[in-house]
Amino acid sequence: MIAVAIDGPAGAGKSTIAKTAAKRLGFIYVDTGALYRSIGYYVIKQGKSLEIKEDIVSCLSSIDIEIEFVDNEQHVILNGEDVNASIRTPEVSIAASKVSAVPEVREFLLGLQRDFAKKYNCIMDGRDIGTVVLPNAEVKIFLTASCEERANRRYKELIEKGEQVNYEDVLTDIQKRDYNDSHREIAPMKPAEDSVLVDSTGQSIEQNVQAVIDVIKAKVPEIK
Ligand code: C5P
Repeated sequence: MIAVAIDGPAGAGKSTIAKTAAKRLGFIYVDTGALYRSIGYYVIKQGKSLEIKEDIVSCLSSIDIEIEFVDNEQHVILNGEDVNASIRTPEVSIAASKVSAVPEVREFLLGLQRDFAKKYNCIMDGRDIGTVVLPNAEVKIFLTASCEERANRRYKELIEKGEQVNYEDVLTDIQKRDYNDSHREIAPMKPAEDSVLVDSTGQSIEQNVQAVIDVIKAKVPEIK
């Protein structure tokens, strides 16, 4: 199986770019952020504190997570419930960032992520895919963009979905998550040493998809 790891900060366009590239190459696209979001969502729903590690860890024994694909779209099934529609809010973004700093949570999700790469040709996106989850991935890409451009994209996405947000809050949320994700002790977000940097600032989605596909084809020549 061929594994492509795409890591990078929030709003760099990982999911849109990875999803489109995967479709063109006939690969499965796995969005690992959705797994951390689902756990954050569950902790909030249980009324537990996101500031208390023991509270977060105590939730894990009652969580069952599965990933299903419907029309090529990933759906996270949390204890039998499809939570896709509930995990994209700013509140859940911050919750995901908090739970993701807990080693037990990362360990809990590791097997699920690795199993996918064993079974399918996949493009997997996240923060630590090239460094921790799939250190032997054939292709590793670190996809980034300027903070302002990332905030702008996320803001437009949320407004299109009908969320009530303002740009400053979205920018602060992105900066906070960048800080949390790159400063945590366990699996901090950082480019793998053997990753290729793709900067999506000022580029169209199509240009970015092409850049990612070019990197993949250069590393794995048997992909036509
Ligand atoms: O990618 P997305 O923004 O949906 O991820 C939500 C949060 O989940 C991130 O801010 C990060 O804290 C966490 N995450 C992670 N490791 C991954 C994927 C996501 O820590 N592989």
